[in-house]
Amino acid sequence: MRYISTRGRADELDFEEAMLTGLARDGGLYVPQSFPTFSDDDIAALAGLRYEEVAFRIMQPFVGGTIDDTVLRQAIEKGYSAFRHVARAPLVQLKPGHFLLELFHGPTMAFKDFPMQVIGPLFQSVLARKHKRITIVGATSGDTGSAAIEAFRGLENVDIFILYPAGRVSDVQRRQMTTPTAANVHAVAIEGDFDVCQARLKDLFNDLEFRDEIALTAINSINWARILAQIVYYVSSAVELGAPGRTVSFTVPTGNFGDIFAGFVAKSMGLPIDRLIVATNQNDILHRCLSGHGYHTVETLPSISPSMDIQVSSNFERALFFAYDRDGRSVTHLMSTLENGGFDVPHDVLRALTDVYGSGRVSEEETRATIVRVYEETGRLICPHTAVGVRVAEDFLDPTVPMISLATAHPSKFPTAVESACGVHPPLPSLMDDLYDKPERFTQIADDTQAIQDYIRRARRQ
Ligand SMILES: *Cc1c(COP(=O)(O)O)cnc(C)c1O
Repeated sequence: MRYISTRGRADELDFEEAMLTGLARDGGLYVPQSFPTFSDDDIAALAGLRYEEVAFRIMQPFVGGTIDDTVLRQAIEKGYSAFRHVARAPLVQLKPGHFLLELFHGPTMAFKDFPMQVIGPLFQSVLARKHKRITIVGATSGDTGSAAIEAFRGLENVDIFILYPAGRVSDVQRRQMTTPTAANVHAVAIEGDFDVCQARLKDLFNDLEFRDEIALTAINSINWARILAQIVYYVSSAVELGAPGRTVSFTVPTGNFGDIFAGFVAKSMGLPIDRLIVATNQNDILHRCLSGHGYHTVETLPSISPSMDIQVSSNFERALFFAYDRDGRSVTHLMSTLENGGFDVPHDVLRALTDVYGSGRVSEEETRATIVRVYEETGRLICPHTAVGVRVAEDFLDPTVPMISLATAHPSKFPTAVESACGVHPPLPSLMDDLYDKPERFTQIADDTQAIQDYIRRARRQ
């Protein structure tokens, strides 16, 4: 399997190279040159299998011989052994025709553990074989950073730096990043919001000299390997509800568009998905865009679902690439307008997008009301991101097509928001209850690329 850049000017890579590279050298994102397809029989054969086996069968064709089957299997087994639920991604029912896919049983209680827990061991095995060391730098609105640190802490061939917006992540998210003691872990509080963190990360990648000097690698959802591991739970949940014999829809609380793009790949591989619904909070640039108002950035408003507080949704570039029928030049042109506030989407491209994706936007008030209502109706506490998804999903319910809403984080990861909405304190799962007793360790740095580079040069181990 070969991987090509959404901007059409970077070298084609194999899976292993694409994983180690992250962002393409032309500024684009890697996507598979073609999608492997699964027949109805292939899909039917997944029924009743362990999650790990489904993961192997889905991921293997994309890895395309660059990584041994045994290494891939071991990474999957090791990665998911840290989960607290034997089904890994269990489905529960909210009401007739509406299901919740619980993606928060991993070690840091958000769906990002699904990709991170697998790519940690994959990176280590590839790097050890090549006698290489790398420096991972990631930007996070909270959940990516904690999942990445958990997955990469203590790995021999990796130093990991996570840039997070100072004061804009929850206490649980921050502590999950600042309490690990491994010498290869560096939590960096940046004076700015998440978009600032992402912009500085892009600066680091666009400084090709610096990039080569420290063997800079990305594990943000721009990294294809992450998207790959997220395809699996779309497939496992659809099969659980009767695919290939029954079509399903998904609603996905969306920020950087990585999670829902994995749904698009599942659909492209032959999984019977009717609609993929993008759910946004008050930072609704994706909903406005899909409603025909163009992609125009405004100021980011802090919300109670901070992992979706974003203006520049990196993986939307991948969606645009396919909506443009893989025309890298058009994508390059659109992306170049982002610095000046955005672009309008041509009519035919918008139609290609809305053929696949629906969308909705939820206010802070409605988010809280949804947490309360789901608790009253089902006795279940949901996190604010999940509530945004559940609320949007309700507008798209169709009696003939089951809706699966992705529960992207555990409610106890956002205890203040949940408790202030419904008056009930969501307890941490028992494995995590020493989180508040451990000392924190982090470095605060201004919104300044040079200062960040200096710090990374000094702090990394090699
Ligand atoms: C990251 C995250 C999202 C958004 O996912 P994207 O892939 O960035 O669209 C939603 N909810 C939670 C809890 C997250 O951590």
